[in-house]
Amino acid sequence: MTNLPPLPRITLVVATGNPGKFNEIAALLQGLEVLLLPLDRIGPIEVPPEGGESFQENACRKARAVAKASGHLALADDSGLEVDALGGRPGVLSARFGGPQATDPDRNALLLEMLRGIPSDRRTARFRCVVAIAEPAGRVRVAEGICEGRIAAAARGFHGFGYDSIFELPSLGKTFAEVSPEVKNRLSHRAQAMAGAREILREIPAGRG
Ligand code: IMP
Repeated sequence: MTNLPPLPRITLVVATGNPGKFNEIAALLQGLEVLLLPLDRIGPIEVPPEGGESFQENACRKARAVAKASGHLALADDSGLEVDALGGRPGVLSARFGGPQATDPDRNALLLEMLRGIPSDRRTARFRCVVAIAEPAGRVRVAEGICEGRIAAAARGFHGFGYDSIFELPSLGKTFAEVSPEVKNRLSHRAQAMAGAREILREIPAGRG
């Protein structure tokens, strides 16, 4: 009997329809006594679109809606890339930058074109991620992660997704697409925000979700 795994203290619905993101979040929350449920396990729930003006607003809106509709604790995130030379764009519009038909390579090509001629020291940028955890009764807590870097002169590397191939980490001289997923998951904005989310979840009393 002593070898049985501990029973989950709380149930947490992850407010994403993206199985890749669910798995990444599950890996970053490993070891906590939390039962993670994907959105499709709890029936049809409408997640509000990301139309807010900040990552925090979008994450909170999604987490609050899913917690209210499911009656469980809910976690949602929003993230994106802020480029200083573009006044923080694409920011909250990162996923939609370049229009609804644009692919990740299209978005990267567009960003590189917009930064053409701008020297390396003025190509500073950061990935930002905000994670929100909402209780069904309405309380919402947030954690933020930031990863500083700069936009490379050209796309490099084949790992990852989104803007990874043009986002360079000055300390490594490599883009996120040139490092392994393990290395990215140690340094990334999402990993840092999820470390904060772990602390929040540890403080939530058993049964609250
Ligand atoms: P969301 O948080 O899933 O809405 O992601 C917003 C967008 O930001 C994504 O579609 C990507 O374009 C970009 N993004 C967020 N995190 C990353 C990352 O770790 N690497 C590359 N692109 C990212």
